[in-house]
Amino acid sequence: MKFGGSSVGTGENIRHVADLVTHYAKNDCRVAVVVSALAGVTNSLIEIAEQAKKGDEKKIQAFTKELAEKHLAAVSKAIVNKQLQKETEKIVTDTISELNKVLTGICYVGELTPKSRDYVLSFGERLSAPIVCNALRDLKFEAQFFTGKDAGIVTDSNFGEADPLMDYTTHRIKLTISPLLEKGVVPVVTGYIAADQYGVVTTLGRGGSDYTATVLGVALAADEVWIWTDVDGIMTTDPKTMPSAKKLPLLSYQEAAEMAIFGAKAMHPRALEPVIKANIPVRIRSVFHSDNDGTLITKEPANKSAEVVKAVALIKDVAMINVGGGGMVGAPGSYAKVLEVLGKNDINVMMISTAVSEANMSMVIRRGLLGRAISALEIALLGRGLVSEITAEDDVCVIAVMGANMQGTLGVASRLFTTVARAGVNIRMIAQGSSELNISFVVKEKDGEATVKAIHKEFKLDKV
Ligand code: ADP
Ligand code: ASP
Ligand code: MG
Repeated sequence: MKFGGSSVGTGENIRHVADLVTHYAKNDCRVAVVVSALAGVTNSLIEIAEQAKKGDEKKIQAFTKELAEKHLAAVSKAIVNKQLQKETEKIVTDTISELNKVLTGICYVGELTPKSRDYVLSFGERLSAPIVCNALRDLKFEAQFFTGKDAGIVTDSNFGEADPLMDYTTHRIKLTISPLLEKGVVPVVTGYIAADQYGVVTTLGRGGSDYTATVLGVALAADEVWIWTDVDGIMTTDPKTMPSAKKLPLLSYQEAAEMAIFGAKAMHPRALEPVIKANIPVRIRSVFHSDNDGTLITKEPANKSAEVVKAVALIKDVAMINVGGGGMVGAPGSYAKVLEVLGKNDINVMMISTAVSEANMSMVIRRGLLGRAISALEIALLGRGLVSEITAEDDVCVIAVMGANMQGTLGVASRLFTTVARAGVNIRMIAQGSSELNISFVVKEKDGEATVKAIHKEFKLDKV
């Protein structure tokens, strides 16, 4: 069972999480718990790491004080037993004093490397997991706290986006965690963080606790992996922006992965990789409505649904780059050159579209990378006869429309684009993968929500 930041935002919620775990642990289930940082903490660690790099020592003191208050308040609400409370408070204060030293070090050196950044980011989960663990002990359940590293999750050294080495990790988790489960102890493992082969702390990328959960699920040969969150499951679109969104009770791995990759934030995009191989079902469900059985993700869902379009995602915070020039026409390798420049500069391309004329190419990237992308492209390509024009739009968003039944169904695209046109929205760029599982297109950001609404309605995805 993995509990996201939104489920462990406060001490009261942590107490509720502990109740949920014990409910299942009492009823003949062996449960391993994975927990994220308290809501908002990872974001605040990213920010303070940047401040520390700039040498702002005063901010560090204020930050760690506030962080301590937040976690100590959670301890006082999540744990009743005074002795356990004290024990947990000590873990919190010791951990924060270590963080203080790390940040002060960064401040003096004036350097934040991917390695030291991951170390700073690891503190969010290192603070939340002991509180959850001791909340379980407070309910008279034997529980033991582990960092991802101590649990035995070993990754490559790609700091910030590390990938677990599955065979070695499985071997080690079998030694550390399996014996506890057999004894009826509940292991509580930090999500998101692990260590490379040299024991250096790594993180699995934002939202990576989902990934930790599936890695652990596979290593332990779990019956199911449950991802507890703050919504009822994977929905037809983000329920926070469209309350009429409907829960999707059954999804295939392929559909769920497609949705995660295309911005349905309910799950980390790579989290399904381990379970697909091992064929372990994943259930996404809400801590606030625990009677709702959520979304079940399996290889071949029973009850194949007939809908052509299953879900729509709105991906904000992106920008579109257009690269054009007569020199690109009929020049083998010209697209590759453009992509190589971006790749070498660590800029991930989310979407590409080209015209048969070959005279231009459009790409979508994260908005924050736009400045760097444009200058890299200009320096590498302009004035060399291939590319004569590089333009960008930073006020756009991507709409991704998904559904396995789109495959081979005639007329989906025409129905889709007629709907968008009827909503009075102009499309800037289109891409459809040959898998036909999704169609993605770019519109102006101001039109994003209206477009999602119109599609949601046309394909009858609204709750009735
Ligand atoms: P957690 O803290 O549990 O990891 P996240 O914030 O990472 O939770 O992910 C859950 C959030 O994902 C929901 O609160 C919801 O706003 C958002 N979301 C975006 N698209 C979808 C979707 N299609 N279905 C469900 N949730 C979605
Ligand atoms: N705390 C990490 C993050 O905010 C990991 C997670 O929540 O899954 O990205
Ligand atoms: Mg998440």
